[in-house]
Amino acid sequence: MQVIWAKQALLGDGWARDVSVEIDASGRIGAITPDSPRPAAAHLAETLLPAPANLHSHAFQRAMAGLTERRGPDPRDSFWTWRRLMYRFLDQLTPDDVQAIAAFVQMEMLEAGYATNVEFHYLHHGANGQPYQDIAEMAARITAASADTGIGLTLLPVLYSYGGLDRRALVAGQDRFGNDPDRFAQLYEATARHLATLPADSAMGVAPHSLRAVDRHGLEAAIALAGPGPIHMHLAEQIAEVDEVQAALGARPVEWMLANTPLDTRWCLIHCTQMEPHETTALARTGAVAGLCPITESSLGDGIFDALRWRAAGGRFGIGSDSNIRIALSEELRTLDYSQRLRDHSRAALAENARSTGRVLLEEAARGGAQAAGRNSGAIATGLWADLLALDDLGPDGQERTGDMTLDTWIFARDDRSVRDVWAAGRHMVQAGRHIRREDITASYARVMRRLAHEG
Ligand code: ZN
Repeated sequence: MQVIWAKQALLGDGWARDVSVEIDASGRIGAITPDSPRPAAAHLAETLLPAPANLHSHAFQRAMAGLTERRGPDPRDSFWTWRRLMYRFLDQLTPDDVQAIAAFVQMEMLEAGYATNVEFHYLHHGANGQPYQDIAEMAARITAASADTGIGLTLLPVLYSYGGLDRRALVAGQDRFGNDPDRFAQLYEATARHLATLPADSAMGVAPHSLRAVDRHGLEAAIALAGPGPIHMHLAEQIAEVDEVQAALGARPVEWMLANTPLDTRWCLIHCTQMEPHETTALARTGAVAGLCPITESSLGDGIFDALRWRAAGGRFGIGSDSNIRIALSEELRTLDYSQRLRDHSRAALAENARSTGRVLLEEAARGGAQAAGRNSGAIATGLWADLLALDDLGPDGQERTGDMTLDTWIFARDDRSVRDVWAAGRHMVQAGRHIRREDITASYARVMRRLAHEG
């Protein structure tokens, strides 16, 4: 058993001081005792917080960091130029590469304060779409990376069948993603066998990629496989995508999903940047989580999620790092609120009477992230997985700052360098600000990057 003693902790029912938190041998939170003296053997923490799940990631895209900020051949450089570059790049990736990149991404997630990687995993096959001998080879590599980094893993094999809404075949570059529903069922079973080798907090769901890549039959097959979920899907990210769906299906993506699928708390819809007000309200009321990726959505110029209307309708949200070119929990949270302020000429957009902006951002990201990950966590409460992050004293900025002000100082004045310790289901993987296997994981990733640069 481990014991953490925190000067202050954000518990499921609010702030407490001088808190002793036990982690049992299974990795779950045991007794929580506020106003207690510091036990001799306890790990000392300044501020203890629930560590959110990172609810949307494509690990391999990290290796494209720095390659996508030049003007392409198109006069108006767009998301679609970016996507072509991604296809060219990923042609070169081997299973060894994917494992090394995933481990590095997961390590950075932990160091940023996330306890869980929800991996929207769609790079399944070898060159020209040839399946590996083990159809779930790539899933096995993501799984192996997580065994190495100690992060909680919710693995979402992605069903991707078509190159567009006219149901055209996949082109070169996309063929490594492709499966029909029958082969996807085999992939799902093989993935489950790999995942069973991980600790008990790991979980699995499905991800029908998008309305572009999956037809109604595929969507229904994926939903059936998922059972209790989670089910993740890219929804309404780009204006061109919304127009394409409208033309092909006769309804905007959110309207179509509301009318044709059993949306509920099992679902997480990724990128809800292009929604009309009535769609925002109706989708929020289904109980589905909005999977927000504020840094990636800024990078791609997707648009601004209507967080205020979503919250007013009782909607839940969580945060993902998506392309992973920058993994920074505090910056994601800050960017989400700043996007609302820039649009509305407002301040402290998501703050409530009883909770500051930083508090709402962190608590909601933890709660929504846990729901989207299918993970029994999201707060510091007895019986939940011990997904915890400890902040340092915030340096000179942290003097005389307690409670919500601590979170506001961390998120709006400092950054993830203030994240000192992180536990994922009790595994204490980040200590004194560094992942315990940082050197090896970083060296492997750097080797892959050097080789890719030479081959590219
Ligand atoms: Zn994505």
